[in-house]
Amino acid sequence: MIGLGSVGILALCCGLTVIAGAPALAASDGTLSISVSTGTPALGDPVVVEVAAPGAVDNLVLRWKGAAWPMRETAPGRYEGLIGVDLDDPVGPAMVSAEGFLDGARTRAEAVVTISPRKFAVQELTLPKGMAEFDDATLVRIGAEAAELSRRFSRVTPPRWRIPFLPPVEEYRPENFGARRVINGDRRMPHSAVDIRLPGGTPVRAIADGRVAFAGEQFFGGRSVVIDHGGGVFSVYYHLKEFSVAEGQEIFRGDRIGSVGATGRATGPHLHFGVRVPGGRVDPTRLFALPGR
Ligand SMILES: [Zn+2]
Repeated sequence: MIGLGSVGILALCCGLTVIAGAPALAASDGTLSISVSTGTPALGDPVVVEVAAPGAVDNLVLRWKGAAWPMRETAPGRYEGLIGVDLDDPVGPAMVSAEGFLDGARTRAEAVVTISPRKFAVQELTLPKGMAEFDDATLVRIGAEAAELSRRFSRVTPPRWRIPFLPPVEEYRPENFGARRVINGDRRMPHSAVDIRLPGGTPVRAIADGRVAFAGEQFFGGRSVVIDHGGGVFSVYYHLKEFSVAEGQEIFRGDRIGSVGATGRATGPHLHFGVRVPGGRVDPTRLFALPGR
């Protein structure tokens, strides 16, 4: 609690500045309030956003990084949303806002968060030419598969995710999130997921309720499954030995979807596991660490 001392006066005179480590600065028109789970998210961090209103808000949307996302009602006049800071985002202040209609009148609230940097490992790898360079037909296939997944990620359905999320394997030992890879001297895309080394055949399970958005064979991912948890939240499972789900299938938290393998571009059995939320690719480990509510 800040009283009328000098700290309080300083905060008032610099009302639009967010001090590192301080809660996000929120502004509201008086009817809607917004709060975030952290005011200083680092690169790759998920952020839970809660909105409260004196009654039901119609057409409520969460605005973040230039797009609008649905929120879930958790109790009358209480809403929850999940956004994230992509591992490649610029650091500095960013605004998240909620807006909708209350009793027919437009209402809005906003909060400013300060995105902080995070150090990621740099991995220099030397691979045989055939594993690092691809012919034209393969490049076309890689591009088409990436475009198809992007299309599926852009289809936003009603939120079905719940906190806490369940790690995708019983022995969750994540490696490599955000690793900057240099392969045969060339800088590649950062590793936007975690790798979990486990014996082939280890069961893999869904981290939350949802629907299978993709189940198929990919050049990089091998046997791959993507689950849509609604609200723009997706989980991605690559290199599976086999999968036992089909596109469009309804999935519940903890359901077995397949098993660990080494299909696609993998040097040994492991699960490549990623999470995408509104705003980008986040560190799954930070998602599992979100406090229960
Ligand atoms: Zn990986």
